[in-house]
Amino acid sequence: MSNDLKAIVLLGAPGAGKGTVAQHLLDNFDVIHFSTGNLLRNEVKNDTEVGAIVKSILGSGDLVSDGVVNQVVEVNLERVLPEKRVVLLDGFPRSVDQAKFLDTIFDACLKNSMKVIEIEVDYELIVARIVGRRVCVLCAATFGADDKIGRCSRCGGELVRRGDDEEEVVRHRLLEYQRITLPVSAYYADRLIKVDGNASREIVLQSVTKLAMELGL
Ligand SMILES: [Zn+2]
Repeated sequence: MSNDLKAIVLLGAPGAGKGTVAQHLLDNFDVIHFSTGNLLRNEVKNDTEVGAIVKSILGSGDLVSDGVVNQVVEVNLERVLPEKRVVLLDGFPRSVDQAKFLDTIFDACLKNSMKVIEIEVDYELIVARIVGRRVCVLCAATFGADDKIGRCSRCGGELVRRGDDEEEVVRHRLLEYQRITLPVSAYYADRLIKVDGNASREIVLQSVTKLAMELGL
């Protein structure tokens, strides 16, 4: 692998297929997955100092602040970067401020050893995909808009739309993404690689595989 690549940032709107791409990279390449949600949950589980703060914030129903998230990402990166495996950052940075922070840690050594992969999908397609999604009330299996079935093919349970998947909620999430996270893509113009996420899952994952190999993963 190219020795200087230390981190890959995965960018993409909610519903663009970031989770699928992350899982594909984990299944096929030697990368360490850093999802902000998992990192925060680990801190709570391991009863760390930061974990206690996170726990009290989550308990009060507030959002964990940028400062706390930054701190958690930094200590965890410090722990794994010496391993020389590429870290896949998923859900971080979610704002330009966080992206700037990431460029300052480790004496700014990450800045030149990082690539950013942005999965671009038309918002209307995202809305159609999410609103068409159904989840089984019994086993939680999810089915896409293209699976034209009335009941769960695994257990026969009833299929419903998740509350989060209502069109209005989806459009709100996309607007928030556009406002807060999309500027991160412009900030990273010098290390950005765009992947067309409008194609079928199979085609998208093929491009991701090709890209990962070009990056030396
Ligand atoms: Zn089911």
